[in-house]
Amino acid sequence: MAKTEFKSESKRLLDLMINSIYTHKEIFLREIISNASDAIDKLYYISLTDSSVGLNKNDFKIRIDLDKENRTITITDNGIGMDADDLDNNLGTIANSGSLKFKQENDKADDVDIIGQFGVGFYSAFMVADEITVRSKKFGCDKAYQWVSSGADGYEITETDKEDVGTQIILKIKEDNENEKYSEFLEKYKISALVSKYSDYIRYPIIMEMEHRKLREDCDLENPEYDEVKEDEVLNSMVPIWQRNKKEVTDEEYNEFYKQKFFDFEPPARVFANSVEGLVASFKSLLFIPSKVPFNYYTKEYKKGLQLYSSGVLIMDNCSDLVPEHFAFVKGVVDSQDLSLNISREMLQHDRQLKNIASTLEKKIKNELSAWLKNDREGYEKFYANFGRQLKFGLVGDYGAHQDVVKDIVLFYSSTEKKLVTLKEYVDRMPEDQKEIYFATGESIDAIDKLPQTEYFRDKGREILYCAEEIDEFAFQSMASYNDKQFKNIVNEDVEEEEKDENEKKDDSSNEDTLKFIKDVLGDKVQEVVFSKKLKSHPVCLTAKGGVSFEMEKYMSMAQPEAMVKAQRVLEINAAHPAVNALIANITADKEKAEKYAKLLYTQAVIIAGLQVEDPSEYADLVCSLMS
Ligand code: ADP
Repeated sequence: MAKTEFKSESKRLLDLMINSIYTHKEIFLREIISNASDAIDKLYYISLTDSSVGLNKNDFKIRIDLDKENRTITITDNGIGMDADDLDNNLGTIANSGSLKFKQENDKADDVDIIGQFGVGFYSAFMVADEITVRSKKFGCDKAYQWVSSGADGYEITETDKEDVGTQIILKIKEDNENEKYSEFLEKYKISALVSKYSDYIRYPIIMEMEHRKLREDCDLENPEYDEVKEDEVLNSMVPIWQRNKKEVTDEEYNEFYKQKFFDFEPPARVFANSVEGLVASFKSLLFIPSKVPFNYYTKEYKKGLQLYSSGVLIMDNCSDLVPEHFAFVKGVVDSQDLSLNISREMLQHDRQLKNIASTLEKKIKNELSAWLKNDREGYEKFYANFGRQLKFGLVGDYGAHQDVVKDIVLFYSSTEKKLVTLKEYVDRMPEDQKEIYFATGESIDAIDKLPQTEYFRDKGREILYCAEEIDEFAFQSMASYNDKQFKNIVNEDVEEEEKDENEKKDDSSNEDTLKFIKDVLGDKVQEVVFSKKLKSHPVCLTAKGGVSFEMEKYMSMAQPEAMVKAQRVLEINAAHPAVNALIANITADKEKAEKYAKLLYTQAVIIAGLQVEDPSEYADLVCSLMS
């Protein structure tokens, strides 16, 4: 068979590999071992129901052999194996490595760090080897195949002899040069140290032949004599990290495990391990909250879920039923001995135990976040900047069914505190005469702060929650109240009840003709023109009537333009403002000018509301004609 070229993106990754700096090279071993372990997982899973596999749990192993003379490291597993197509597909392209994608989307990111931090899989072996041979026989296949490549110029696949099912990877280690030494990787102490460092938790034995000095049995103890003996030794402890007592696991071990397993760059912001003895299901979980938003997080591509194990056997890589939508950012592992291994993935969805685990986890995550908020506000706010939006989905999703889970861990910006606050903090300091929770929606915190509508409440010293995210308003609408206090959007609703009467007087000074005049000028641009009860220093503002706010209109026009959701516009005018008085005076004195004033004030209200001016050049002409 002729040489096949690597697919183009693989070529680029290969270049990165070959030219990477030395300190990252050692990760090649963990990548190969982790592939071997995955392959064994697959065959072990089959063996539970298919006796033709002919292997028991204790038969599965990974073996490492070193040959200094020929400069090779050979890693052998008795996992599922690969046929010719698998070799071509899996080793000809980068399968699932998130690294290249990450690189493409973050072009500034340093190549070298990506290699060091991410799992880059099989390709990393080219950092230490100038030739790689993969010999493999797939379970259920009579023939074995061999894949050989010396890097950049492609690979060749041929048939080969191999008795046992499984895969053997032979790395021809590079020669040392002035700058870089590779021979170290041919030393047993080094390999054994690398296994302990990176692959200790692998659940199958990683075996290497080790030399020992052994006391000769029949020797004189005064004068001891030793034999050099060679014995297979298991290099890893095989205890999965989540099964270990958390007091005995270092932060570094948790971080390393997380980065490896979940392809992250940075250590997690939060790690929490739980051991639950339940009536329905007992389980261990090890959960992580990333310190950065994954690059594809707010896209369809992101898959929430946890890895699900049953007594140490991986059943599912991404079990999405284990975490609710509002905690979609949580990553981690769940291991339960109560789940049936033979359960199919479809059945799993309806499994009682799984549901029970999921609901316990939801509580655990909630408690963890609450404790974080309580004990490390700064850290929590950083987390919140990353994933707060996701938490807020819990307020609106499933018709509000999860509100109790998240309502005390969501934060909103406070007009008086000038920082993020909880709803509880807000309600706890509400003055007695305030009956409702005030919030205001707008484009940004700054813009909301400048809205004419907020002025009245600000002057009264009222605390207002500023909502600059679309979801905020939906959230308050769907919650309706918190601790029996109703939410009130002060941008659209009126002033407080007890003040209405006083303001009502302004209405006396109004005359219906003024309102009708302005409404006629503006036509169907507005639903209504009214005298405002809340404007103070501003002449006009635009409010929305009938439940659809401007923020919702903006959101819906993006999300579902075909629905044509429109807010009903109400122009409020301030009868006490000189600009409005000038308009009123001109209705009789200079009608044409009064019309221009009406249009001018309306457009100002549109701009302040953060809405698009329908015809900016017409507006410009209008201003100019009034100036000259
Ligand atoms: P990843 O492990 O992220 O999928 P790799 O480049 O490390 O990427 O491996 C690519 C694919 O090659 C794996 O997904 C797997 O299907 C296959 N593979 C690698 N090593 C083995 C092995 N020892 N046994 C069986 N399949 C393997």
